[in-house]
Amino acid sequence: QVVKGKAKKAAKLVDKPVNKAAVLGAGIMGGGIAYQSAYKGTPIVMKDINDKALTLGLATASNILTKQVERGRMSATKMAGVLTNITATLSYDAVKDVDVVVEAVVENPKVKAAVLAEVESYLSDEAILTSNTSTISIDLLAQSVKRPEKFCGMHFFNPVNRMPLVEIIRGKQTSDATIASVVAYAAKMGKSPIVVNDCPGFYVNRVLFPYFAGFSQLVLEGVDFAKIDKVMEKEFGWPMGPAYLLDVVGIDTADHCTGVMSAGFPQRMQKIENDPVSVLFENNRLGQKNSQGFYNHG
Ligand code: NAD
Repeated sequence: QVVKGKAKKAAKLVDKPVNKAAVLGAGIMGGGIAYQSAYKGTPIVMKDINDKALTLGLATASNILTKQVERGRMSATKMAGVLTNITATLSYDAVKDVDVVVEAVVENPKVKAAVLAEVESYLSDEAILTSNTSTISIDLLAQSVKRPEKFCGMHFFNPVNRMPLVEIIRGKQTSDATIASVVAYAAKMGKSPIVVNDCPGFYVNRVLFPYFAGFSQLVLEGVDFAKIDKVMEKEFGWPMGPAYLLDVVGIDTADHCTGVMSAGFPQRMQKIENDPVSVLFENNRLGQKNSQGFYNHG
C-alpha cells in the first residue's frame, strides 16, 4: 500500500544528512546508483567482489558522463570531478565511515542476507542500510541485520540516471528517522521518492505486472504483440508498449517477477499457461540484454 503524504512528513525528521554513501555491487544498478550519487555531489564507495565488475561499474558512470560532455551539457573538468566522487573497491574498509549503504548485489535472498550481515559489522551504529531488491520482502531481509530500525528498501529503476522514481520501502521495524534520511538522500540524488509498505511488487511492479498479465492474455488470444505496442505508443501516447517494455526490463527478470507476484497475490495474478514471457525465457530470448526478446534488437 502506498503511504500517502509520509514522504513529506518524514523529510522533517532527518537527524543526520547523508554526506557519504556506499553501494554494494557494481552491476547494472550499482554502476547507475554510483553515477547518480556522485553526479549529485554525494561521494560514494562502490564495492564488488570482482575487479571486472568494478571496471564495468565505473564504465557505466563514465559512459553517461562522456555522452553529456559530447552533447555540450557538461565540461570535461566537471566530468573528472564527478568521477573522483566514486571510490571503487574490493574491500569493506572504505565503507566504515559512510552514512548509508545501498545493497545492489544479485537478486538472491541468501546472498543478500550474508552481504547485509557482513557489511553491518563494518558500519557505525548510526549508519543506515538499504536494499535495492526488486522482489524480496524487506521484512525478510531485516531478519539478517542487528539494527532493523535502521534498515529499509531503496528501490531504483533502470536506467538509474533516467528514471526519476525511487521506492522507499518501509519494513515493520524501520524507524521514521531512517525513512526520513533515505527520502532526503533520494531527493538529494535528484530523484522522486515515494514511501511504500512492504508487499510483493511494492508499488510499481504491483501495477506493472497485472498490466503485463493482461497483455499476455491478449497475445494468447491471438492479437499481434507489435500491434498492441503500436496502439499503446501511437494512439495512447505511452513512450513504449508492453512487449517493448518487457524487452527493456529483461525477460528473465520479468519471468522471475511474474512468479513472485502470482505467489504473493494468487487471487489477482493467476499463473498463465504458456505465458509468452515464460516461453521466451525458456528459449533464452532475454530481451535487450541478449538482443532477442519479443523483438530482435541486434
Ligand atoms: P547485476 O547482476 O548486473 O549486478 C550484481 C553485482 O553484484 C555484480 O557485479 C556482482 O559481482 C555483485 N556481487 C555479487 N555478490 C556480491 C557481494 N557479495 N558483494 C558485492 N558485490 C557482489 O545485477 P543488477 O541488475 O544490477 O541488480 C542488482 C539488484 O538490483 C538486484 O537485487 C535486482 O533485483 C535489483 N534491481 C535490478 C533492476 C534491473 O533492471 N536490473 C532494477 C531494479 C532493481
